[in-house]
Amino acid sequence: MRKHNVIALLAAGIINSAAVFADVPHWNYEEQDQPAGWGAIEGAGTPPPINYPYAECAIGTKQTPVDISNTRKTPILNGLTFNWKPFTADFYNTGHAVQVQPVDPKSYKGTTKVGKDVYPLLQAHLHTPSEHTLNGQKFEGEMHFVNVRTDGRITVVGMFIETGAYNPQIQLMLDNTINKPEEKTHNPTNLVFDPKKLLPKGTGSSKFYTYSGSLTTPPCTEGVNWYMYEKPITMSEAQLVKLKSFYDGNDRHLQDLNGRKLVTNK
Ligand SMILES: [Zn+2]
Repeated sequence: MRKHNVIALLAAGIINSAAVFADVPHWNYEEQDQPAGWGAIEGAGTPPPINYPYAECAIGTKQTPVDISNTRKTPILNGLTFNWKPFTADFYNTGHAVQVQPVDPKSYKGTTKVGKDVYPLLQAHLHTPSEHTLNGQKFEGEMHFVNVRTDGRITVVGMFIETGAYNPQIQLMLDNTINKPEEKTHNPTNLVFDPKKLLPKGTGSSKFYTYSGSLTTPPCTEGVNWYMYEKPITMSEAQLVKLKSFYDGNDRHLQDLNGRKLVTNK
């Protein structure tokens, strides 16, 4: 695997950083308020001299999240097909988010099809409040389904979350994730998680917005295909409170579009 891809997977919480690089620097959400934000974080360890492994967070021009407004309707747009399957789950506190992923990602067959391109689904995680905004509006939360091909290409499917009906799948995440910030704790169980149950009926043909962006966490790698669905999913008030007890404010600031146009299928 190219180093670039390894870093992208690290950032997406897909693989454990300690196992791959001892020199991946720590970061937190407060640091994005500093000049140059995450981009100014210095690399640790070798090689000297100073390096800035998260520079793209500061100097990238196709960053995520963005405000979704002034969208353009495009009739010929690749839609998504969700061939997601239930999996035996690892509930994983990444140090930045509550995440769920297959215990054995290599044998997991769930995929997201973008047109004819197939992306294996690798993990899903939660942000509170939302990272994207819709016409300037923040939502209570946002769920990201991260799909990564073996060549490193990434497609993220995003769902806004508003408070409302109780969400049994999110409850599984809340009940089984260890509340240990900063520590990456795997929690293997035999519980089965069904990501498809998080999608409202008919999501495959409902309205989405798509654009080219980045990971929303360091190293903010670009070239990520983003699909944000307009219709939010729900969780109860009590579930939101519980989610915030893990991470409250793990949302990156809005980024400039720099001329990018968001397109929509409807
Ligand atoms: Zn995310």
